[in-house]
Order: sequence, then C-alpha cells, then structure tokens
Amino acid sequence: GVAAAAAPPEAGPGPAWQSKCPWGAPKPTSISCSLADVMSEQLAKELQLEEENAAFPEVVAVAEGPFITGENIDTSSDLMLAQMLQMEFDREYDAQLRREEKKFNGDSKVSISFENYRKVHPFDSDSSEDEVDWQDTRHDPYRADKPTTTPKKGFIGKGKDITTKHDEVVCGRKNTARMENFAPEFQVGDGIGMDLKLSNQVFNALKQHAYSEERRSARLHEKKEHSTAEKAVDPKTRLLLYKMVNAGMLETITGCISTGKESVVFHAYGGKSTNEDDKVIPPECAIKVFKTTLNEFKNRDKYIKDDYRFKDRFSKLNPRKIIRMWAEKEMHNLTRMQNAGIPCPQVVILKKHVLVMSFIGQDQVPAPKLKDVKLSSEDMKKAYYQILNMMQRLYKECSLVHADLSEYNMLWHDGKVWLIDVSQSVEPTHPHGLEFLFRDCRNVSQVGHLHLTIYVSSCTCKEYCIIHLTESLK
Ligand code: ADP
Ligand code: MG
Repeated sequence: GVAAAAAPPEAGPGPAWQSKCPWGAPKPTSISCSLADVMSEQLAKELQLEEENAAFPEVVAVAEGPFITGENIDTSSDLMLAQMLQMEFDREYDAQLRREEKKFNGDSKVSISFENYRKVHPFDSDSSEDEVDWQDTRHDPYRADKPTTTPKKGFIGKGKDITTKHDEVVCGRKNTARMENFAPEFQVGDGIGMDLKLSNQVFNALKQHAYSEERRSARLHEKKEHSTAEKAVDPKTRLLLYKMVNAGMLETITGCISTGKESVVFHAYGGKSTNEDDKVIPPECAIKVFKTTLNEFKNRDKYIKDDYRFKDRFSKLNPRKIIRMWAEKEMHNLTRMQNAGIPCPQVVILKKHVLVMSFIGQDQVPAPKLKDVKLSSEDMKKAYYQILNMMQRLYKECSLVHADLSEYNMLWHDGKVWLIDVSQSVEPTHPHGLEFLFRDCRNVSQVGHLHLTIYVSSCTCKEYCIIHLTESLK
C-alpha cells in the first residue's frame, strides 16, 4: 500500500543560497502554496509515476550519445566512423562560421546571426556560445544542493513526519532533477538552482519534447549531410574511401591535391591488391572524386549527351548516375590511352563516382602542370612535339579527342608530358568532336614560348586537322 501525501510541503533545511543571496531569501511559503495548487492532481497520477520509474533506465541510455542508441547497435564500424568524421567536420565548419559571424558583425550594434547556416544543430553542439552561459549558471556557487532523493523503500521519516516518494514537493524536485537525464545537450535551464518543482504533467510534456527534438535533430542533420558535397566529400564518398583503406587496397589517404569545380583529387599510398583481380596497385595513387553537386555538370551535357557510347543510357538516368558516368568515361578513356602507350595515369579501380589511378609525381608531390613548369627550350621543343604526337595517337589509335587539352591538363614528369583529365573526351564522330579538336589544337599551339602554330582554319573535314598536325611534326 502507498500512503497518501499528508506531510507538510516544506521540510528540512532551506537551500544554502538563501543565506548568501544578495537579493535576500524569497518567501518559501508563497512558492509552495501556488505550486501545491498546480500539483493537486498529483495523487491521481500515482500509476503514471510508476511507469516513469520503469522508463527511467531508457532515458539514461539515450543520454549516452547519439551513436550508441539502441536502434544503431548493429551499425558497422565503418558507418560509425564515417559519422564521427562527419560530425568532426561539421563542428570545424561551425567554428569557422562562428568566426565569420564575429568578423561580420564586429562591434556593430546590429548583428546578424549565422545560426541557420550551422551544420550541427544546437542540440548536438557541445560548444555553442549559449551553452557557456548555461554552464555558468550551473556552476553558480549559490546554487541549491541537489534535492535529497527518497530511498528505495519509498518514504523517509517516521510517524506523522513521514514523507513518501509521492509527496508533491519531493516528487516535483525529483522531476526537475530528472530533466538532466533527457539528453546531454538538451538545455533544461537551472531548475535545480531555482528549487523548481515540476508536476508530472509538465515533466511528461517536457520529456516528450526532448525526445521529438532529438529525432528532429537527427533528421535535420541527415538532410544537411546530403547537401555538403560542394565543400568537401560527402559522407557517402567518405565511406567509399574508408572502405578502400579498410580493404587494404589503399594504405593511407594522405591529403587533397586539387579541388576543382567538378572533382576533388586526393593522394594516397597504395596497398595490397584485393582479390577481385591481380592487378598490382601502384605505390602512390591519385583518387579522383567526381563531385556529386549537380549544377556544375549541367553545362557539360553536350559532351556526353551526343556521345553514342552513352546515348541509350543518358535519357533514362538521373543526374547522380550521370556523374558516375563521367567517372566511367574517364576510366574507359584512360584505358584506351594506356593501351595506345600514351603516357597517362593507369586505372586502378572505379567505385561509383570515385576513380583510383596511378599517381603522376613522387613522394606525395604531384608532377607540375605544363602551365607551371619552367622548361629549357630544348625540353619545351621536346614537349611540344610529344604533345602533337600524342594528339595524333589519341585521334587515330584511341579514336578520341581530348576536348579539354591545355597546359592545365598536361603534367611534366620523368622528362615527358602526361595527359590527364579525360572524362570529357569524346569520339571524333561526336557532333561537336571536331570543334573540340580545333579548340585543343589552338590551345596546344599556345603552349610555352615557342609559338609554333598549327594552322587549322576549318574543322569541317576531320582529315584536315590531322594533316596539319602531321606536317608540324616534320
Ligand atoms: P579537374 O576535372 O578538376 O580539372 P583533373 O583530372 O584535371 O580534374 O585533376 C585536377 C588536378 O589534380 C590536376 O591538375 C593535377 O594537378 C592533379 N591530378 C589529377 N590526376 C592526377 C594524377 N593521376 N597524378 C597526379 N596528379 C593528378
Ligand atoms: Mg583539369
């Protein structure tokens, strides 16, 4: 049997701050009176309290952290690691945003908040500025002690001084103390310091809110993760890369070589070859990640739309798949070039929109672009003729037009020119193939200081370009 709450509302010594508080002690009687009214339904909700007690351990489990909740328990370590990395990245991003916000606002009396651009929902954040205030409050030296909890037996005191666990005040305080168990970053304010007594009804409403807020945060976060691709690699790509390392195919991914509009290139040390085939993995690799941000690729449609190799598939595909096709295209084109003996990166593996190839360069230092390298006139001449030769082989043996050939997409390594960046290369029969060839020829003729000119006046006849290239070689 459970005894009814007959004890006086306020028993025991008053909180410590009452004697020290500069504003003097508030009259405790007025507080207890008004709260007593509010909590008049307390007794009727006995059973509910029992339920609360049963649910209590569950609340503690939630408080342990976003990754260890029950439903995620069988998540593979890959996913967890990826999520943790993502969280780390998001926090860094937010820190940067905060600095920008500060700089932007300066000492101005009117300030603009960048809050809405944060990646980490305030709920997830453990370093938001608001929270500092909150923590200060918690360390208030005048703060009241935690309310004494009733022992297991359910009551304290004896005879007519008995206080049960259902006592309005004790229970109210207990509810307040329990708010701390909601989730680590759910800001509950300083209820304990105020000696706040929450009725079960209010506590339940708050608990409900805390849960839904947590779910909302998770959803929001997920949504935002999908839109971070343009800043760096998105979580899905990160997972792909992590798996390559995990499989031992790559030893380590050391860092980023280049961030372009359409791709990000990383350097990695190669590992052991996987079972798939016995291809030897080069000691150093370049990983080209085709960005899954869609807008940049819209204006590249013309390269792929009319490429008969991809014609059937283009119309049916969503933009995400088209981006994979760029990676696939680069792979096929590189393979053709490799077979023709044109110096170019060797394909290691293609996974979705991530292409791994051999690294042109040494000890993490990529070979310089032709644009950046200072060549002796001897080397310059050599490079120039090599390029002309490669263009012809590309055209005749690989049946390809580079379509973005310039000093930006040629590297100088080992005393020769290497061609890279062939995702947009097309077959000469492509409706715009010869226009692209003409553009390539024009670009190449401007390489370096030699000013050797390839005279290409018209590209209506495909032989025309080639004849002139051949002549230049003589
Ligand atoms: P984008 O389409 O962004 O121009 P690229 O294929 O041209 O992509 O690569 C961008 C940069 O990354 C290149 O300019 C080059 O410096 C570097 N890079 C790309 N592939 C390799 C590679 N296999 N080895 C060394 N560096 C590379
Ligand atoms: Mg390029």
